[in-house]
Amino acid sequence: MDKKRLIIVGGGFGGVKCAQTLRRELSEGQAEIVLFDRQNHLVFSPLLAEVVGSSINPLDVIVPLRQLLPGAFCRTEEVQNIDFEHNEVEYQGEDGMSARMHYDHLVIACGNVTNLNVVPGMADHGLPLKTLADAARLRSHLMAQMEQAEVSADSARRRWHLTVLVVGGGYSGVEAAGEINDLLRSSARYFHWKEEDIKVVLIHSRDQILPEISPGLREFARKKMEKAGVQIVLNARVSSATMEGVGMHEGQFLRGGTIVCTVGSSAAPVMAGLKFPKEKGRLVTEPDLRVKGAGNVWAIGDCAWIINAEDGQPCPTTGQFAERQGRQCAQNIARVLKGQQTKPFRFKLLGELCSIGGHSAVADLFGLHLSGFLAWFVWRGVYLFKLPTFGRQLQVGFDWALMLVFPRDLAYVRSEETERVSLAHYDTGDFIIKKGEAPTNFYVLKEGEVEVLRDGAGSEVVAVLGPGSFFGERALLGNRPRVMSVRARTPIEVLVMGKNVFTQVSNSLAPLRDALAQTLNRRSVDIWKDRPQVYELLHRTCAKDLMETVPQPLLKPTATIRDVGRAFVEHGNEFFFVSSDGQTLEGVVTITDLIRGQTGNSACLVTEFMTKNPVTVAAEDDCTIAANCFREYRLKTLPVVEKKNGRKLVGCIRMRRIMAFVLKETAGQGLSTTDPKAFQEAGQASKS
Ligand SMILES: Cc1cc2nc3c(=O)[nH]c(=O)nc-3n(C[C@H](O)[C@H](O)[C@H](O)COP(=O)(O)OP(=O)(O)OC[C@H]3O[C@@H](n4cnc5c(N)ncnc54)[C@H](O)[C@@H]3O)c2cc1C
Repeated sequence: MDKKRLIIVGGGFGGVKCAQTLRRELSEGQAEIVLFDRQNHLVFSPLLAEVVGSSINPLDVIVPLRQLLPGAFCRTEEVQNIDFEHNEVEYQGEDGMSARMHYDHLVIACGNVTNLNVVPGMADHGLPLKTLADAARLRSHLMAQMEQAEVSADSARRRWHLTVLVVGGGYSGVEAAGEINDLLRSSARYFHWKEEDIKVVLIHSRDQILPEISPGLREFARKKMEKAGVQIVLNARVSSATMEGVGMHEGQFLRGGTIVCTVGSSAAPVMAGLKFPKEKGRLVTEPDLRVKGAGNVWAIGDCAWIINAEDGQPCPTTGQFAERQGRQCAQNIARVLKGQQTKPFRFKLLGELCSIGGHSAVADLFGLHLSGFLAWFVWRGVYLFKLPTFGRQLQVGFDWALMLVFPRDLAYVRSEETERVSLAHYDTGDFIIKKGEAPTNFYVLKEGEVEVLRDGAGSEVVAVLGPGSFFGERALLGNRPRVMSVRARTPIEVLVMGKNVFTQVSNSLAPLRDALAQTLNRRSVDIWKDRPQVYELLHRTCAKDLMETVPQPLLKPTATIRDVGRAFVEHGNEFFFVSSDGQTLEGVVTITDLIRGQTGNSACLVTEFMTKNPVTVAAEDDCTIAANCFREYRLKTLPVVEKKNGRKLVGCIRMRRIMAFVLKETAGQGLSTTDPKAFQEAGQASKS
């Protein structure tokens, strides 16, 4: 037999077992085994929750691949693409250049990746639990929350720091909730806060946690966890995540300083380019684990859709199955190389184990149901035995023995991460900035609207800002506490820039520097200071009192630049609103936009040159907000919508109309309204 090259992509449970079995089945002269993984270690994920709970040392749950696989060539590189036509994998070499390697057989064992985008805001505010870095970060976060609770003078805030919301009641959610609950409660004696301040909430979308195990054990787990202090919320779906907590589909909002997300996964990025049949994003295999339609490509573990010949059901995505598939895949490859018949994958589940905290677990082993301390003891024994090397078994055993005598380690390394630019999601009513806070970030609004408030209580709205606007610059540049609060008026997506990044970018990027200087000038002038009566008058007057009807016709987003030009000629409007359904505002187009949109393509759609999601005022907003918007955006007209957090058009308000109203109302009062600078400024530079 010629020496063959067998490549495995992924060094998780499946890939490692496959490589080990291949080495046993085939001599070095028969096969070269190459294993690619972007990290140089196997993560023993069943023990990740123990890392979070500080029961074991983070490094104890990983094992270097090259120590596990002495007979294989381990490459710490990410496979970027697979060229099935030429039997080659493409990866980024150590010099940063793309490189290729030929294979005779390829095993895809790349698992899956966390996808926090299943819930708006989760990617920004939720902490996942998939990798060692996730576990270490979550552990540090919890330690930081306990420290902050210790120094918090406000009792509600203290409880917020000590509230943990775990989303997902499967294995990892239950184990994480149990461990976190143990960690917080056992640590209370070292702090001045009380155990009553702690709240760990497990949120699950179904009517029972742990759907994988028998109903009796599930019920035991639920009761035991509730007794230990974990609050279990069933039949509840999380609809959003914010800095403050999670919103539920049912309308409820749960506040908490830590959100752990154990739901949501998607295919590993390399899978996207694979043009083979997939089911739920996983590669569909033949019974012998070969990818359907590919002769020499195999798939195992979480990335594969494999039907178990034992029961005709798709295999679950567990480590237990991934290992068995890895072993059988290797045996089948060896059979193919030796000219023998392959065998279908068949595996009878040995049992299931889940730790639920408080030295308790539930176990379903060979049909035997165990619960409580005995199950916990078995759980520890089984996982200790399953740890890949004797060294790790000793280390973890030693950690666990120490924990019986000594308390959990509460130290954490505060990693001063390099500041970066990130995205954040806020729901209606959430504060992004609070008056009096130290300045840390600069914000650019991507979607939605915020309102700027003179005070923290939110009684006086000073301005409304829409997509494309920025805020937070004044306090950052002046390095002084925030002088106003900013609150989300609708759900928003905002780009958050740390102080150092902001300083560097604004110092080196001239257009941003100029825009900042202009905005600073404009925002630092209080236009109402010398006109208190005008302010009072406008403050008392609602936008709906002065608004005009929606200018007709409304344009459809499918209107072309030619249609828009014709509409301006025929109707003589200064602008048109754009809406698909004749009600919901999607954009506004002015003559200036029309001129800018001239690219020579007469089929160009209005959506390409209109102002999308323009800033609006609500019918119930007072006219100072409208006046401030005219000034901020240099507009003459603003769309008026029915409600603050909606886009249903009800009219428009013109700067000229407000000025006329002020002049009329104040005539004869001796006020200097003949010089309404506030509006003049806006009028001179207005857009349309
Ligand atoms: C918190 C938690 C607790 C769990 N508890 C249990 C449990 O108690 N019992 C149980 O049976 N299962 C448990 N699981 C599930 C189990 O971990 C997975 O089912 C198992 O890891 C799947 O193995 P795998 O080999 O398919 O993928 P993984 O173990 O995820 O390994 C995939 C590997 O591929 C690598 N990779 C991906 N793409 C590329 C690429 N393009 N190039 C190079 N390398 C790549 C990754 O870095 C990773 O190392 C748990 C999972 C989690 C997250």
